[in-house]
Amino acid sequence: MSKVLIQNIRKSYDNVEVIHGIDVEIKEGEFVALVGPSGCGKSTLLRMIAGLESINSGEIIIGNRVVNDIAPKDRDIAMVFQNYALYPHMTIRKNMGFALKQRKLPAKEINQRVHEAAEILGLTEYLDRKPRALSGGQRQRVAMGRAIVRNPTVFLFDEPLSNLDAKLRVQMRSELKELHQRLSTTTIYVTHDQVEAMTLSDRVVVMNNGRIEQIGAPLELYDHPQSLFVAAFIGSPQMNFFNGKLDDNKSLVLSKELKLNLGKQFAQADTDVIIGVRPEHLVLAEKGWPCEVVVVEPTGSETQITARLAGNTLRVLLRGRTTVQPGDKVFVSAEPVSIHVFLASTNKRLHLS
Ligand code: ADP
Repeated sequence: MSKVLIQNIRKSYDNVEVIHGIDVEIKEGEFVALVGPSGCGKSTLLRMIAGLESINSGEIIIGNRVVNDIAPKDRDIAMVFQNYALYPHMTIRKNMGFALKQRKLPAKEINQRVHEAAEILGLTEYLDRKPRALSGGQRQRVAMGRAIVRNPTVFLFDEPLSNLDAKLRVQMRSELKELHQRLSTTTIYVTHDQVEAMTLSDRVVVMNNGRIEQIGAPLELYDHPQSLFVAAFIGSPQMNFFNGKLDDNKSLVLSKELKLNLGKQFAQADTDVIIGVRPEHLVLAEKGWPCEVVVVEPTGSETQITARLAGNTLRVLLRGRTTVQPGDKVFVSAEPVSIHVFLASTNKRLHLS
């Protein structure tokens, strides 16, 4: 396994810059997800690491080598794509060993590596089948097997689970995590799905419009989003947001009639801000923010309540069940630590005084 350094990488297509100077350091053995909405540049960045796209400026270093001018096949990486493109006329055994055969490895070694990978992936009994006789999940495992047999120093994954149905995606996600725990190969994983990024990775790189918004461990992003973008992107259901004004640097003026005590003190006063609070961090309380219940949606294990708070829509996610009804007047509250405050002029997190 190798570390990967991405240093001030820029990329333009037809004079339009789509990657605006990105720096990331991926440690040996680390699992890092690149996540962001469609078009933010994550696949382009991954393909530049793989050597499938040229770089306009900056450096990519794998291990101790600058690989900018090294061909993809010589970068010691293996890539798994969303479209796993197995050869339909070849058995699983041949599909998995194909790259090694091209590299002219001895048949005995190919056989051994294919068997080891098949064992890890639970594919041993399918080795003599053709891809059409496998399920979608098994085919995706073969695509991973093809990468594993090459014993690369870095795995690159480009949305590998997107073609699978929801149930299989969850199962393959935990298989992938187990695989990484077992092999500890440095992994860079592109996905638009924040849950996938959060559950799989040691660290997540959140991208927006060709730039990095924030890099951090999954729970660091969840607990301390540094921008409105990250706050809105990470977490499901989405964080609630309201615009207001910090008045005496401790409370938020939401409307003429309503002032919310935030329970903590900020350096700024008389400042336009956006406050955010996650639905799962709100509870029904004896006192707090006065709301009117609009919709109650029970799922058994939890209940989602949609309410109005001074003209704003507020979602509350309760564990378990509730007796509240649409039209009820209730109070909700959150611990001060769960209330995030962003400066309206920059959309960046506001820090405590
Ligand atoms: P993501 O993987 O996050 O969805 P991409 O890396 O595919 O985003 O694309 C980033 C940006 O680069 C987008 O604006 C996309 O339209 C543009 N882009 C990607 N590939 C090409 C290409 N071959 N030619 C021109 N523009 C491209």
